[in-house]
Amino acid sequence: MGSNSRPHAVFVPYPAQGHVTPLLQLAKVLHARGFFITYVNSEYNHRRLLRSRGAEAMAGLDDFRFEAIPDGLPPSGDDDVTQDIPALCESLSRNAAAPFRDLLARLNASPGRPPVTCVVLDNFMSFAQRVANEMGILALVFCTMSACGFNCYLHFNELMDRGIVPLKDESYLTNGYLEDTVLDWVPGMPGIRLRDMPSFIRTTDPDDFMVHFDGGEAQNALHAQGIIVNTFDELEQDVVDALRRIFPRVYTIGPLVTFVKTMVARPDTAAIAGNLWKEDASCLQWLDARRPGSVVYVNFGSITVMTPGQLAEFAWGLASCGRPFLWVIRPDLVTGEKAVLPEEFFEETKERGMFLSWCPQEEVLSHPSTGLFLTHSGWNSTLESICAGVPMICWPFFAEQTTNCYYACTKWDIGMEIDNNVTREEVARLIKEAMDGEKGKDMKVKATMWKEKAVAATEEGGTSSVNVDRLVGFMLEGSV
Ligand code: UDP
Repeated sequence: MGSNSRPHAVFVPYPAQGHVTPLLQLAKVLHARGFFITYVNSEYNHRRLLRSRGAEAMAGLDDFRFEAIPDGLPPSGDDDVTQDIPALCESLSRNAAAPFRDLLARLNASPGRPPVTCVVLDNFMSFAQRVANEMGILALVFCTMSACGFNCYLHFNELMDRGIVPLKDESYLTNGYLEDTVLDWVPGMPGIRLRDMPSFIRTTDPDDFMVHFDGGEAQNALHAQGIIVNTFDELEQDVVDALRRIFPRVYTIGPLVTFVKTMVARPDTAAIAGNLWKEDASCLQWLDARRPGSVVYVNFGSITVMTPGQLAEFAWGLASCGRPFLWVIRPDLVTGEKAVLPEEFFEETKERGMFLSWCPQEEVLSHPSTGLFLTHSGWNSTLESICAGVPMICWPFFAEQTTNCYYACTKWDIGMEIDNNVTREEVARLIKEAMDGEKGKDMKVKATMWKEKAVAATEEGGTSSVNVDRLVGFMLEGSV
C-alpha cells in the first residue's frame, strides 16, 4: 500500500490517564492493521509525557505520530489540570474545536501523511465529532468506560425527565432513596438502583454541569458513525444487546489490554506508552520474594482523592489484616495536603508493606504473588484485574465507578464492596474474607473464569477479535 493511500486514523483521547491508555492501545491495534496513526494529546499532557516517557518514545514512528492541541485552560503552575474534571470538560468543549479543525487541515496538507480518513474520539470529546462531521470525515466514538456505565449515561436525560434526578434535598443522599429506587425501566440492567448509577446523579442542583455534560455526551455518541467499547460481549451481554437495540453499530473490542499483549500490536510500537506518571518497577522484585497469591495490591487510580481520616482507616486496616501489601499512594491522593501517615504505622508494617507513588499496574496485577486488588473500580483497573484473574475489594470514588462496582460485586461475583465511610475493622475483615474465606474462594473461581473468557474473546474467532475485523472493515469502507 502506498503511503498516501493508507487509511489514516486520528485519535483524540480525553486528557486523563484512564483515557489516554486505552485509546493508545486501540491505536496500536489499528496500526498493526496497516493504519497510519496520528495521536492527539492535550499540550499539557504532551509535556508531561515528554517528562515521564522521554523525547525518544514521544518521537513516535514514521507512521505513528503524536500531535497536541491546547485544552484551553489558563496556565496552571504546579497544579495538575487533569484533576479538575468539570473545568477540563467545560474548557475542552468550549475551546478545543478550533485548534482541532486547524490540526486536521494541517494534517491533510502535510505531504508525508495520507489524508485523514477517520477520527476516533473519546466519549467526552464530542467537539472532535462536530469537526469531523463538518469536514466529511468518518467519526467513531470510543467509550473508555464499561458498557454498563455508558448505558447509565445514556439514560441520564430520562432520569431528569422522570423527576428522579436532581434529588429533592440533601437528605435524599442518606434516607434510603438511592438504595430503594430501582430503575427497572433502564434496558439491559435488571435490578439496577439509583445508588449504582454514576455518582454524578447525587446532586440537588437542576443545572449540575456533570449531569448535563455526561448525559449530553452519551447522546452525542448516538450521532457518530460507530461506537467502540472496551469490553467483551460475554461480560456485559445484556447491556451490550440493549445498546445495540438503541444503536446497531456498537463494536465491543476489549479487553484491549489483552489484545495488545497477546497478538496484534507490532513490536515497534512497544516503546510507545502513555503513562503520565513515572513508573517505579522496583515493586516487581519485591513481589518476586512473596508467596503466590499472598499480596494485597492497593491502588486508587489516577484521580481518586480521600480525606486524611479515610487514608488512616485504610492504613490501620492493612496493618491489622496481617497480609503483605503493596500500596500505591499518589502524592496528591489526600485532599488538600500531602499524604502523610504516622511513623508507628510504617514501623508496624515494615516487614510486609511496600509503598510507592506509581507502579506498572498491569504487571503488578498479573504477577503470581498478587492475590487481591483493593481498587476504586475505575474501568481500566477493573478490566486489568479481570484479565489477571484477581478478585477485588471495591471502594468506588466517583463517576461510573459505582456502576462498575455493582457489576463486579453482584453480576460477575468477583468483588466485595467496602462502604465509602471506610473503617479499619471493615478493611481488615474484608481482606481476610477475600483471601481466606469461602467468599474469597468463590471469587477466585469466578475471576479465573472471567479471565479465560476475556482471553477467548480476543483470540481468533472470539467475539472481540471478530469485532475488530468488522471495525477495520467499516473504517476502510465506511463513508459519512
Ligand atoms: N495505573 C498505573 N499505575 C498506577 C496507577 C494506575 O499504571 O500506579 C494505570 C492503570 O493500570 C489504569 C489507569 O492507570 O490503566 C487508571 O485507569 P482507571 O480507569 O482504572 O482509573 P482512573 O485513573 O481513570 O480513575
